[in-house]
Amino acid sequence: MTAPRRGKPPRHFADLSAEERAAAVVELGEKPFRAKQLATHYFDHHTVDPSEMTDLPATSRTRLAEALFPELLRPVRTMEADAGATVKTLWHLHDGVKVESVLMRYPGRATLCVSSQAGCGMACPFCATGQLGLTRNLSTGEVVEQVRAAARALERGEVAGGPGRLTNLVFMGMGEPLANYRTVMAAVRAFVAPVPEGLGISARNVTVSTVGLVPAMDKLAGEGIPVTLALSLHAPDDELRSELVPVNTRWSVDEVLDAARRYFEATGRRVSIEYALIKDMNDHAWRADLLGTKLTERGRGWVHVNPIPLNPTPGSIWTASERDVEAEFVARLRAHGIPTTVRDTRGSDIDGACGQLAAEEVP
Ligand code: SF4
Repeated sequence: MTAPRRGKPPRHFADLSAEERAAAVVELGEKPFRAKQLATHYFDHHTVDPSEMTDLPATSRTRLAEALFPELLRPVRTMEADAGATVKTLWHLHDGVKVESVLMRYPGRATLCVSSQAGCGMACPFCATGQLGLTRNLSTGEVVEQVRAAARALERGEVAGGPGRLTNLVFMGMGEPLANYRTVMAAVRAFVAPVPEGLGISARNVTVSTVGLVPAMDKLAGEGIPVTLALSLHAPDDELRSELVPVNTRWSVDEVLDAARRYFEATGRRVSIEYALIKDMNDHAWRADLLGTKLTERGRGWVHVNPIPLNPTPGSIWTASERDVEAEFVARLRAHGIPTTVRDTRGSDIDGACGQLAAEEVP
């Protein structure tokens, strides 16, 4: 058997705007209002199974579903941690490319960490995904399908803790979301549009992360959709940051912090600064002070910092900071008046935490 060709996935309902959905339905010989019925099945009931679409004529159901809901993601393997409250799914895309998503359930909320690219081209040396390089961008349908699958699994009680609802989405899986801007924005629109035109998730519960692609950050600020922006900074000085996050040679620490501040001004949303604490690398007290100074120079109340104990990746020299060093780092930031919360490393025992998604298939 020859391997499928890498490339564009088949057109999917989730790739289309409301007008395009109506046009697609008409093209298939149906009345435009069928598009709304399909949207209700897809975005509200989270189903693509024609047998569940009983309000559609039996003769049309299968034809519409086959044409508009091609299978984009096939689950290959799921791994659980935290007594089933964290579930990582490895997906095969239509061309055999692999991506992962991670569902994390907490009391009162459930967060899905979605991938926007297969691999990543940003080459951060401490990150498992970065070691893969970029295979390709995902399509909007491929991003939205990760979310629909999780919403459905939760609703059907397939995740430990009984039936529930998907409440939060974070673009912190594989890839640099702003490097696949159009797709990510189309997916965000589908997430936040009210049911049945979209999934009806509040924009404030959607987080888009970036290593600091400044023009795209500014563009995002102008979209009028107040998602939370998470900036992966990892170092407050250019010398070290250019090593940890190579794209820093293009946009410096000061430039990305200015763009983050502009994002806050445009949207009123407090920006998250993500800072992986790496032992003896970026965890020095003076770096906490420098970060505190750079943030407060740009104002108060616009930002908070999430230090993240680094999740070691197999075969890597990078490892997490000692506890007392982490505590000192946090205390210094707080002394500058910066709200600081050490982030949960949920899923680290299944390689499902940030910088660990390598889409490995264990034989
Ligand atoms: S840390 Fe993020 S941007 Fe950097 S290589 Fe990994 S996935 Fe890409």
